[in-house]
Amino acid sequence: MSSPKLYSLSSPHEPRASSPPKAALPALSPPDPALAKDLAHAEDYDQVFRVVRRAVRSVLGRERPGLGLALSDLPNGVGAYWPVTGNLIVLNDALLRTMRGMASSLEEYNAFTYVLLAHEYLHSLGYLDETAVREVTARVTRGAFGAEHLATHLAEGDLWRRYPFLRFSRGGDGRKLRLVRGFDRETTSNYIR
Ligand SMILES: [Zn+2]
Repeated sequence: MSSPKLYSLSSPHEPRASSPPKAALPALSPPDPALAKDLAHAEDYDQVFRVVRRAVRSVLGRERPGLGLALSDLPNGVGAYWPVTGNLIVLNDALLRTMRGMASSLEEYNAFTYVLLAHEYLHSLGYLDETAVREVTARVTRGAFGAEHLATHLAEGDLWRRYPFLRFSRGGDGRKLRLVRGFDRETTSNYIR
């Protein structure tokens, strides 16, 4: 049996030379200041993920309930992954620990976490192509927070280029997974007690 295909946010990212022609996209509505405020003050992954889901819902009008989160020490070049058809997003705990130590503020750390989660969440909504998912992550983030927000800069760029120290995280092989309890509680509480 072959191992399941994984869709990860990883580095380096070089856009393919021959991207398909883009259809014209509808103009973005003005950003929602409540989203930026809630992201700045989010205290755990659950709260950051609520912001991700609201951002996607407000910009794309799409939603997927019932996703879980796990943490694992993954190789340095991988931020997170989502196994196709899986209902779990796996974040690279080693990378997050490094970022927690190096970020200048909670706001910066949360913006970083937001980008990892948004990327995988959008994979789970069906954007499987890496170039396409990066474009839609950037668009959602710009629409939700505005062009000048740090999360937008992060979503539009390459995390490993902006934060070269990520390459020196003490990564692992991803064999151990730690489930995050309470993640995505907002949607699961309707039917899980
Ligand atoms: Zn990806």
